[in-house]
Amino acid sequence: MLACVIDNQLCQSPEEATISVQDHGLLYGDGVFEGLRFYFGTVFKRQAHLDRLRDSAAALSLNIPLSDDDLCAMIQKGINASGIESGYIRLMITRGEGPLGLDPTTCSNSRCIVIVDQLNMVSAAALEQGATAIFASTRRLSSDQVDPRIKSLNYLNQIMAKLEAKAAGADEAIMLNSAGRIAEGTADNIFIVKAGQLLTPPTTEGALEGITRQTIIEIATTLGIEVKETPLAMFDLLTADECFLTGTGAELIPVTTIAGRKLGKLTEYQYYQKLSAAFLEVIRNCCKSQDEAG
Ligand code: PMP
Repeated sequence: MLACVIDNQLCQSPEEATISVQDHGLLYGDGVFEGLRFYFGTVFKRQAHLDRLRDSAAALSLNIPLSDDDLCAMIQKGINASGIESGYIRLMITRGEGPLGLDPTTCSNSRCIVIVDQLNMVSAAALEQGATAIFASTRRLSSDQVDPRIKSLNYLNQIMAKLEAKAAGADEAIMLNSAGRIAEGTADNIFIVKAGQLLTPPTTEGALEGITRQTIIEIATTLGIEVKETPLAMFDLLTADECFLTGTGAELIPVTTIAGRKLGKLTEYQYYQKLSAAFLEVIRNCCKSQDEAG
């Protein structure tokens, strides 16, 4: 069941959860968020998400009125109320209520919202057979526009790219940066395998510094797979042996068709198979050790 907590108050139902129409989070997308996952009741990479939330907020001079402990307590309240064993958490900070007009200094208290629910980014069929992706014509904003490290409440570029994917009958859109190189998916980072190497664009190419991306780089290194963070062109994706997306919501999504071209069969995606098995193992161990640490 979807559960919602606002400013540490559990809402009895989603309908009861209210945020002012004057909240600048709604009026202007002025706010930040994190997406987290919990497995068997334990939040995966919780501190990394809280740190990124604080960085996003600091970049926007947005006050987070709660300590990490308070945020964790809110998250736990949401998990408990949801009755879900393994699911997804949306943690949001909005600028708060203020008069019409952009000026964020006119806003009163920023609001903290936690929503706990299930999230499946692609269908079970896409996970089983491999997802399809297009190259979107909508570009990812670069760091001289809105720095991609800020996980803000404004995802309009990604939404436009997602609309392109849906119109083309594809599962996901791959976004390019203003120079025409690969940035990332709409809500996920991208990896390819080429000649035995695992390649991903540096986040300076216009991607969020994904926590799952970092986890996969660490896992691959441990497994002895050579990882290179290197700029990628459309050519590299079209000639890749394997391609997959990573994200908290996405977890690992294999992509077997890009712009109508078949890369390969999922059963032949050896690196993806190996890395997703190891990723599951890391989740299991991480949750176990967090449990033991209390
Ligand atoms: N890029 C974007 C734009 C995202 O919204 C997300 C999801 N948070 C990601 C990448 C993946 O990041 P993470 O692995 O930290 O969830």
